[in-house]
Amino acid sequence: MDIIETLKTLNACFGPSGCEADIRNKIVELAEPFADGIGTDIMGNLVAVKYAGTTRRYSDNNMNVEIPNAPRLMFAAHMDSVGLIVTYIEENGLLRFAAVGLVDPAALKGTPVRFGNGTVGTVGWDCGAEKPEFDSMFIDIGASSRKEAEKLVQKGDMAVYDTPTRVLAGDFVVSPYLDNRAGVAAQLMALEMLKKPAYCCYFVFTVQEEVGRRGAKPAAFGTDPQFGIVCDATLTDDAPRTKHTGTAIPGKGAAIKIMDKSFICHPEMVEALKTIADKKKILWQADVLQEGGTDGAEIRKTAGGVRTGGVSIPVRYVHSPQEVCSVKDIEAAAKLMAAFAETKPKF
Ligand SMILES: [Zn+2]
Repeated sequence: MDIIETLKTLNACFGPSGCEADIRNKIVELAEPFADGIGTDIMGNLVAVKYAGTTRRYSDNNMNVEIPNAPRLMFAAHMDSVGLIVTYIEENGLLRFAAVGLVDPAALKGTPVRFGNGTVGTVGWDCGAEKPEFDSMFIDIGASSRKEAEKLVQKGDMAVYDTPTRVLAGDFVVSPYLDNRAGVAAQLMALEMLKKPAYCCYFVFTVQEEVGRRGAKPAAFGTDPQFGIVCDATLTDDAPRTKHTGTAIPGKGAAIKIMDKSFICHPEMVEALKTIADKKKILWQADVLQEGGTDGAEIRKTAGGVRTGGVSIPVRYVHSPQEVCSVKDIEAAAKLMAAFAETKPKF
């Protein structure tokens, strides 16, 4: 799998929280050739199944009809992104908006955006606005009246950053939504690499993570795993004057999660991931994050509890229109997840 091409393909999709249909359809296309079964649950989570044995259909209403004769492992990468939602249309055609998920208004000035129907615009701000706040900003789609604007965009429509994916020096890329298209790409690559699974593997692409991890728990109830691995972006510790609230450095390998603000990983999962990475000579580093949460928290707390760990990808400038990460870290994360899935559980 070409990671950069996959990131470009995913970046061309639309997928703010709650509106994941477009990106989900693209992931179905990319995952289907490598999965034994694929389906979508009521929440909109996409589940691609791969396990040793006969092929079976995994679909909306028969999620747990057949229980496979192998331990169940759930991977989770959220496919939704943060976004902007129209709240009011001014008489002059400018669109007032709010954030969907955690967005820093200071990062938005002059950002090109696009709506699900292809309408494009840019973020502007009121005269005299001293510091960037959502209530002094607007999206300009070029409409000169409310009537004209309403032909293209309605209240409640969401927009995403319309910035490109480009290759930087070394093996780095810049793109919006590497949180979590980098994790989605890693999970797709792991699915492609996985030849002899030791588990019944569910590769789940979750919805609504950015608005409070709302998709992962229903997916975990549906797949009922004994083991879980979350694959998400993590904050980095390499900016000047960092306060070391995170530990991961881009380019230094797959980041094996120990904790984030939402959960502490199962210690045996952490040890197993480290051991497998060493054995397979996959570059790894520790991921300890004092801010932010991941779908791992929801999987960990499902039913009677799930042994859950995480494989993270260090991403700079998270939730801004231009995030930066290392392609090699995505590859390392994919290799580590595939290697874990091929190793018989010892606990
Ligand atoms: Zn994320």
